[in-house]
Amino acid sequence: MSLHYQAAVLHRAGTPLAIERVEAAPLAPSDVLVRVRAAGLCHTDLEVIDGSLRYPMPIVLGHEAAGVVEAVGSAVVRPRKGDHVVLSWNPHCGHCFYCDRGLPILCEEYLTKGPQAVQFDGRCKARRADGGELRHLMFLGAFGEYCIVQDQQAVTVPNDIPFDRACLIGCGVMTGVGAALNVARIGRADSVMVVGCGAVGLSAVQGARLAGAARIIAVDLDDAKLDLARRMGATDRVNAGSEDAVAFAKRLTAGRGVDAVIEAAGSGAGFRMTVEAVRPGGEVVWLGKIDVAKEVAFRWGALMQEKRIRRSSYGEARPARDFPLLAQSYLDGRLMLDEMITARIGLGAINDGFSALRSGQAIRSVVTLG
Ligand SMILES: [Zn+2]
Ligand SMILES: [Zn+2]
Repeated sequence: MSLHYQAAVLHRAGTPLAIERVEAAPLAPSDVLVRVRAAGLCHTDLEVIDGSLRYPMPIVLGHEAAGVVEAVGSAVVRPRKGDHVVLSWNPHCGHCFYCDRGLPILCEEYLTKGPQAVQFDGRCKARRADGGELRHLMFLGAFGEYCIVQDQQAVTVPNDIPFDRACLIGCGVMTGVGAALNVARIGRADSVMVVGCGAVGLSAVQGARLAGAARIIAVDLDDAKLDLARRMGATDRVNAGSEDAVAFAKRLTAGRGVDAVIEAAGSGAGFRMTVEAVRPGGEVVWLGKIDVAKEVAFRWGALMQEKRIRRSSYGEARPARDFPLLAQSYLDGRLMLDEMITARIGLGAINDGFSALRSGQAIRSVVTLG
């Protein structure tokens, strides 16, 4: 018996998503069918809609999601039917050059199949009502009532975290908190600067707080986002539109610069600010993206003195370890997620949600499904 469901489909960059009836492919032995209950609207989805990230189309976007396991393939041991799960967008083969070196984010299978927007075995997860091919973004394609994933992508979390909060863990929160805890390895009493206070930056602020940083300087151009950063743990705030963030960081640290800077703004000015504000020997983590063909200029002197610069896509996520930890941190009151949700919308209002994200009004709009 075939499963039909509604999904938001992008046919061409620059056009609105269309809500369509699609048909799920049969489950492969290691597949899991998830009934999607909530999916966040992330900047990476917007980049595909606006055309700066190019994928084959038509495609279902959405890569930050939570839901309930509806069915599992014959070889699946974990998760189980009925589990509440947060979805990871980084499946990995476990035995290639990079997997062997502990870098699942560079898995060769992941990097080959990802741009084609198909599963590892080359299949599409669903097709259009007229039988036409349908791709899925980042091994998910979660803007629909259902989503087929590999078993390793569906990570069981406690039942008592609400789906609209849980979904944020799948991309933005993992990336930001992971940048602080896994990548920058912030320690107790460190001074940290976070450049850009959207969902990822606010999560980095919280990661720095969880790590015990003594000073956390939040930098943004929007006072409302800076207020939110303050509530989430920033000790200092700088509106870079009216104040020099690098001078502020130096003043706070006897002229040295801060121990670590996490960037989540995605602008040349932001990248430059990070290397100027960090101290000699300090850690810089870049999370933001700009068009891959663009160049960014740096003052050479700012790159010297043993500074370490890392670009990270997913905060060195180990979903099976990190997702349940983050969910529990929320339940314990240590990780703030409620405040990140700007709007809850139905699938039919998804284009309005992307307009709000494009204009900078939204931290996170979340599509919620019955
Ligand atoms: Zn994302
Ligand atoms: Zn691999």
